Amino acid sequence: KIRTRIAPSPTGFLHLGTARTALYSWAYARHHGGEFVLRIEDTDVARSTQESTDQILASMHWLGLEYDEGPIYQMQRLARYQEVIAQMIAAGKAYHCYCTPADLEAMREAQRERGEKTLYDRRWRPEPGKVLPPVPQGVPPVVRFCNPVEGDVTWDDLVKGPITINNREIDDLIIQRPDGVPTYNFAVVVDDWDMAISHVFRGDEHINNTPWQINIFNALGAPLPQFGHVPVILGDDGQKLSKRRGAVSVTAYEENGYLPEAMLNYLARLGWSHGDDELFSREQLVQWFDGTHLSKSPAQWDAAKLSWVNSHYIKQMDNAALAELVGAQLKKRGITADARLADICALFKDRCDTTVALANWAASFYADVTASDADRAQHLTDAVRPAIAALADKLADVQWDKLTIAAAIKEVLAAHGLKMPALAMPVRVLVLGTPQTPSLDAVLALFSRETILTRLRTA
Ligand code: GLU
Repeated sequence: KIRTRIAPSPTGFLHLGTARTALYSWAYARHHGGEFVLRIEDTDVARSTQESTDQILASMHWLGLEYDEGPIYQMQRLARYQEVIAQMIAAGKAYHCYCTPADLEAMREAQRERGEKTLYDRRWRPEPGKVLPPVPQGVPPVVRFCNPVEGDVTWDDLVKGPITINNREIDDLIIQRPDGVPTYNFAVVVDDWDMAISHVFRGDEHINNTPWQINIFNALGAPLPQFGHVPVILGDDGQKLSKRRGAVSVTAYEENGYLPEAMLNYLARLGWSHGDDELFSREQLVQWFDGTHLSKSPAQWDAAKLSWVNSHYIKQMDNAALAELVGAQLKKRGITADARLADICALFKDRCDTTVALANWAASFYADVTASDADRAQHLTDAVRPAIAALADKLADVQWDKLTIAAAIKEVLAAHGLKMPALAMPVRVLVLGTPQTPSLDAVLALFSRETILTRLRTA
């Protein structure tokens, strides 16, 4: 049975990189009719918070990555890890190590002096005929794993292909800290085993951990999952995407007016491809995502492309549904919209790449607007003021619909010998605060007569 998982640490928001591996794990499970598990890796007690967990769960929900099991919390499984560790110690597969930080530093120093790689020298590892050092007083021990001392660890990575590491390159990993809490590399193995995970997709920053994990799986007699290490996401500057270089959390994109469908589409395509397809639905992704065509090289974050994908989904979206999102954005600004909002969305959505941009337009219907001095100076010339005044007078008593408003505008243009832009630009500046807007009659018809007259008469 195909079972995948995502295992975020609740030490911050759901990072875009984690969201992408979650997406691949989810899609892979769905593609195969398998199951997707969410595990919260909260063993870093000092840095884990409930708030982060809540935010991660909210982002998963927002992206529509529904899991079949979970959230499972590692800190609720301590007894299980301790049980496995006790069994390993009894079987000679793990042992207590009483080295102090000073001992370890001295060990590394000596290795550096000899020009050797700094690896734990196995001084507390029980071996036939070896006399262990006397157990020091008052040093709480860690537990270390008896890593094989020779031979290779090899796996066929779903993304990177075959990878081989010699055991001489790695040392006896700490699997339990002095306080009894297991380390990541150990807990992750027990969990993936207990949860019968068949495929692990994760960021390639974990590639160095995988040989240890495979050795622990083998020591436990547990079946190995398949591993797929997905390359990092780079920012515009070619550096790893990081907080300092812009928004990296799913929450930030939600707040900045991106749609979950767009994020899903964009993230899936970032590091994976299906021919030339750039725009695809959730269902298509599930149908296509079989774990192949994942890129071996880092993906480049492309904000302009994400905007393009987002505008596509905004254009496609039902106006009433869009109005709900935009209404929520307006609420944050203290604006309560009304039934017109769906029509406003319909009129403006073609020119918006986020719902925040759409809310900016919509706000002009519910709150005062101010045009820039430059726009006022350029468009509100003395020559056009009489025509604006005439338009206001005309609009004061016509039927309030788009066709009648269009006819009124035409009459004023004819009477004043003006072409459309000469009047439309200044009116737009007065009404919406900017000269670039959808067609004037459509815009005016969405306002109340009262608001239009007030705004025109400020000229
Ligand atoms: N907690 C780890 C992380 O967030 C999980 C890595 C894994 O998937 O094994 O990076």
